[in-house]
Amino acid sequence: MQKQTGRKQIEDKDEIIDDKREHEKHIVNLMIKIYCRGMKHSPEAYCNDCKELMAYSNMRVDKCPFMKTKTFCKSCRIHCFKKDMRVRIKEVMRYSGPRMIFHHPILTIQHGIESYKDKGRRGKRNT
Ligand SMILES: [Zn+2]
Repeated sequence: MQKQTGRKQIEDKDEIIDDKREHEKHIVNLMIKIYCRGMKHSPEAYCNDCKELMAYSNMRVDKCPFMKTKTFCKSCRIHCFKKDMRVRIKEVMRYSGPRMIFHHPILTIQHGIESYKDKGRRGKRNT
């Protein structure tokens, strides 16, 4: 029985990483939703551009090799988004960031704390 403990711990860690991934995707999707609706892009839930951006962001989160150590993409040292997508997601963040506090105050506070913790670890060089 003892031999299995190590294996079990590894599985638990993987689960935490998966949770983080899901959480991050959830936040990104929410922000894109707020942005797309707020900008009145489309009578649908999302316009095609925002759908594309969402699919791209989720794909990047799925492929992120730093999920274990980093907190959120915002505070990641390598910006893996290609340039045009990065411009778009920044626009979304700028618009939805301040609005998130009204829609999802608890999520926003958690996100703020996580980003803050990450900044603290890295020092002020890249901010
Ligand atoms: Zn849109």
